[in-house]
Amino acid sequence: MSLTLTDVRLTYPDGDRVLTALDEVSLQVEPGQVLAVVGPSGSGKSSLLAVAATLLRPDSGRVVVDGVDAVGLSAAQRARLRLEKIGIVFQQPNLLGSLTAAEQLLAIQHMRGVPVRRQRRAAVEALAAVGLDGKQHRRPHQLSGGERQRVNIARALTGRPAVLLVDEPTAALDQERGGQIVELLAEVTRQHQVATVMVTHDTEYLDQVDDVAVMRDGQLTRSVAGAHR
Ligand code: ADP
Ligand code: MG
Repeated sequence: MSLTLTDVRLTYPDGDRVLTALDEVSLQVEPGQVLAVVGPSGSGKSSLLAVAATLLRPDSGRVVVDGVDAVGLSAAQRARLRLEKIGIVFQQPNLLGSLTAAEQLLAIQHMRGVPVRRQRRAAVEALAAVGLDGKQHRRPHQLSGGERQRVNIARALTGRPAVLLVDEPTAALDQERGGQIVELLAEVTRQHQVATVMVTHDTEYLDQVDDVAVMRDGQLTRSVAGAHR
């Protein structure tokens, strides 16, 4: 079991009250499966990913990543867990402007302490695997929005994570390119046997995923099992 959240509660301070962003949320994603979490803006989807990514510690509840209970860990232990087990594709394109596509992947391997000289070919192959054959020397401004998202996905997969967390991957793309990105996510999820959570307010591409859950006012209200496949 790769990712399990159990009865997760998260609040933010809101003046002299608190705002409940996640209200007893539970979910489970298996290796090789994509769970889509859909819901309106402000419903708590990004908060859910932040907790699953161990970037935010919940007020209560359990977060288990590839068998590791994350809630009791120190900040340093959680940072290590993220590097080893979690791939994250944020909503905002967060590529470094001065680096080429291949260097985006090498930079994160460097952070892991992997000797980068031996990684260049692997980086080029990882880029080819997401449809960026021959584009390893391009910098972010020389790539389209969809291509930048592909670099993001390839980077998130370097280091072989158990869990892939993706926030609104289609937000900045037209319908055709959005569909291609979701298709790619489904494909790499099976290839790499990661447990993927994809958050989206877009209900367009849900035939590509294994499971759909609906987020509303911090509650994961409905889970439709086995959309297809
Ligand atoms: P979504 O991703 O579905 O749009 P979010 O998880 O970003 O939803 O936000 C859920 C709720 O929590 C919203 O009401 C939002 O305003 C609030 N919120 C999000 N981040 C913070 C924060 N850092 N501090 C306070 N409130 C926040
Ligand atoms: Mg969001």
